[in-house]
Amino acid sequence: MLGRLQPTAPDKILKLMAMFRDDPRINKVDLGVGVYRSAEGTTPVLRAVAEAEAQILRDQTTKSYTALAGDPAFHQALGDLVLGDTADWSRIAAIATPGGTGAFRQAIELVRRTKSDGQVWVPDPSWPNHAAILSETGTPWRSYRYVDRNTGMLDRDGMLTDLQGAKRGDVVLLHGCCHNPTGVDLDLKDWDQIAAICEQTGAMPLIDIAYQGFGRGLEQDAQGVRLIASRLPEALIGASCSKNFGLYRERVGLLLALTDGQTQQAVTQGAMEWLNRLSYAFPPDHGARVVTKVLSSPQLCDNWLTELEEMRSRIERLRRQFAHALTEATGRDRYGYIERGKGMFCLLPATPDHVAALRESHGVYVIDDGRLNVAGLSEDTIPQVAAAIRSCGI
Ligand code: PMP
Repeated sequence: MLGRLQPTAPDKILKLMAMFRDDPRINKVDLGVGVYRSAEGTTPVLRAVAEAEAQILRDQTTKSYTALAGDPAFHQALGDLVLGDTADWSRIAAIATPGGTGAFRQAIELVRRTKSDGQVWVPDPSWPNHAAILSETGTPWRSYRYVDRNTGMLDRDGMLTDLQGAKRGDVVLLHGCCHNPTGVDLDLKDWDQIAAICEQTGAMPLIDIAYQGFGRGLEQDAQGVRLIASRLPEALIGASCSKNFGLYRERVGLLLALTDGQTQQAVTQGAMEWLNRLSYAFPPDHGARVVTKVLSSPQLCDNWLTELEEMRSRIERLRRQFAHALTEATGRDRYGYIERGKGMFCLLPATPDHVAALRESHGVYVIDDGRLNVAGLSEDTIPQVAAAIRSCGI
């Protein structure tokens, strides 16, 4: 039976991680894997998280099951963080999920349960798992133009023209902030125009927000989601706490469905709980409980906000220093988009051959498509990486 399985293509990022691990050079630089790194090169447990965990360990009296949807206090705490004062809980259905990946997967399963014959519009490029999950589940999808690879900037006209082709029953996938892999975010006017297109065409937005607080700031990063929530009758929102709480391995995510009223809310809630039931019954609880504790305790929340701001401003500083170093090293003025970009990622204008040369000749590891994790840089490695990029002719 199992002999019928075809080999699965290795995950590119995991493969790159293994190559990095096995590389004996001491001056190698890992800019591949998408996790935040401190100046010391580590991905530490946040202090507020460690404190919340200590309190939970001290006070928790049971490990019995929660509920199919997870803990309602978690929905409320994280939902309010994302939606701010646009959170109208009378219309929101919510389930906890294993990470943002789980939220996206359940969002797609929910769309499939509607039996809509539409398609999902995916930005080009996007986080590769979006297309992988859509294809694996047999969900029709197509790309819309997002970034101009020559300038590294938003292809605004291309995006809006493509999305005008959306129809009722279609879903428009948007990155809430800190677009992965480009770092190119929409401004409020872009969100406004996309909301208008969804209003006119009847397409439903699905917003994946995996880096709230890593771009412009906690509130600013959510402004697009909130604009959509205040304008449209329906939307899906998948949120992740992997990055902003540093809870990667605990698998903390939330799927919110904004429905057209209370009756639909109840039906949607039931459908989403059933999807959890079918997949893993109860979603992971520990990380969700940590997030709830941090957000509901003023002291822990203050500490977390300080740590989040430390991470955000470090990324912003690295982006600026890296862009300047590249401009200086190459004598070209094409790298300004890196400074203007948001979040951990930027896309180098690199071919797979360039990427191989960076890795083989210089020990600089980036993803095949040229995606680079800025948070993997440090003040010390920026000149080395900029020189490697110049010497590879990127
Ligand atoms: N969406 C996007 C856009 C991402 O970049 C990621 C993480 N790489 C995720 C979702 C999934 O994150 P998680 O680890 O929470 O599943």
